[in-house]
Amino acid sequence: MQKIHAVVVGAGTGSRFGGDAPKQYRHLAGRTIFRRALETLLAHDGIAAVLPVIGADDAHRFAQSCGDLPSLPPVTGGASRSASVRRALAALAPLGATHVLIHDAARPLLRAPLVDRIIAALVDGEAVVPALAVRDTLKRTADTRVAGTVDRTGLVAVQTPQGFAMDVLARAHAAGDEATDDAGLVERLGVPVHVVEGDPLNLKVTEPEDLHLAERLLGAATVPRVGTGFDVHRLEPGDGVVLGGITIPCALRLIGHSDADVALHALTDALLGTVGIGDIGTLFPPTEERWRGADSALFLDEARRRVAAEGGHIGHLDLTILCEQPRIGPHREAMRARIAAITGLAPERCSIKATTTERLGFTGRGEGIAAQAAATVLFPA
Ligand code: MG
Repeated sequence: MQKIHAVVVGAGTGSRFGGDAPKQYRHLAGRTIFRRALETLLAHDGIAAVLPVIGADDAHRFAQSCGDLPSLPPVTGGASRSASVRRALAALAPLGATHVLIHDAARPLLRAPLVDRIIAALVDGEAVVPALAVRDTLKRTADTRVAGTVDRTGLVAVQTPQGFAMDVLARAHAAGDEATDDAGLVERLGVPVHVVEGDPLNLKVTEPEDLHLAERLLGAATVPRVGTGFDVHRLEPGDGVVLGGITIPCALRLIGHSDADVALHALTDALLGTVGIGDIGTLFPPTEERWRGADSALFLDEARRRVAAEGGHIGHLDLTILCEQPRIGPHREAMRARIAAITGLAPERCSIKATTTERLGFTGRGEGIAAQAAATVLFPA
């Protein structure tokens, strides 16, 4: 009986990408590349456990972007890709897997049928790689000139995940050798490596342009839904307003059953609107004592969870706060960071705007604060 584990190697520093964080922590349609690489393997019935391998400086980044996923606790990688895989194999050894799939964290578009093909081929084989025929004509160059045309007969481009019998891969790595993929080390043992059809969509994000390409490929498989939310709460004299997940010190407070965070309530309703399961009052009735004084982050987090449960991925949030007082501008970035943290979005995908109503109406008279929000969420087509 096969027991298959998967390793997702994401310990690289991705220097070609620029920016502060390695490329596997860049967002692709609302989720990090690393997270997407993990999710397909975690969701696959044929895989018993998934082990992430992360960079020495990336524990916090990983926890933020993937910490809620049911993977094994991540292990820290080594100085090279092969060294990272060896650390993963050492961590997996006590868990009793018969086979292991090794996948690159930089391949976020992995789809289940490819995993199926690898696993099926491992029934009879000890090593399996997915590969695509090379379609372009290949030439060797010297400086800027063509030095010859390469016969592409029999040439393929190899992807991950690559599948191995556990003992074979352990033997391949035993000498501590380096290779650009694991199959390269297995080949040196003389063990036959089987080839299955790769997936043209399973691209490796290497250059910044690849991220744009991956976004377009994902766009073809998703449909957007837009939800809107609106809320009002009354103001009275007090010692601070809870708004957008933060407390703004001022001589006012908002009144409500919960903490009365009108901005988070509008955002919660906007997210709930994309899954059509009623509104914040349906999920958290104001008649229930347990929501008295509640932190509205709980409501927004639950809405985020409901969206995720339907396969939705939040692409963007846009919030408008309508009030005369307090002034929002000085607190905008703190609100944005808080909302980004609750929803798991990058802050640049959380827009916060504010307006007065020219002293007109209840907001203009300072009797209350209103907020409206729109959420754009991508769902599987
Ligand atoms: Mg409310």
